[in-house]
Amino acid sequence: MKIVNTFVRWLRNKIGFDEYFKIVSVQSFNPKSVKDKVLYVVGENGYQWYFILKCPCGCGAKIYLNCQEDVHPRWEMTVKKKRPSLSPSIWRLKGCKSHFWLNSGRIVWYRELEENYDNT
Ligand SMILES: [Zn+2]
Repeated sequence: MKIVNTFVRWLRNKIGFDEYFKIVSVQSFNPKSVKDKVLYVVGENGYQWYFILKCPCGCGAKIYLNCQEDVHPRWEMTVKKKRPSLSPSIWRLKGCKSHFWLNSGRIVWYRELEENYDNT
């Protein structure tokens, strides 16, 4: 049975299915390692400054999102059952140009919402 469980876990990781983003609080803008499927919340004393996540496309870029009220653009996090959502969507203007949402702990790609999926 153990080997089956290990295989199922490997498969889920491989497909990226059934794996949700975790929230990790940090105090540094430069956490030592930025892992996949972790949303780092940078802040101190109850204040939140930035969110950091690794680009889900696999390019390895760290994405910094401001969440301070007086700075724009600004992203907001809502958490339900420990699963974070961010709004608005995240659109990288440099590099891979990924456009996605983090919705209830999962990545939703912009292109998946387009009707003409064949065109991409
Ligand atoms: Zn990317």
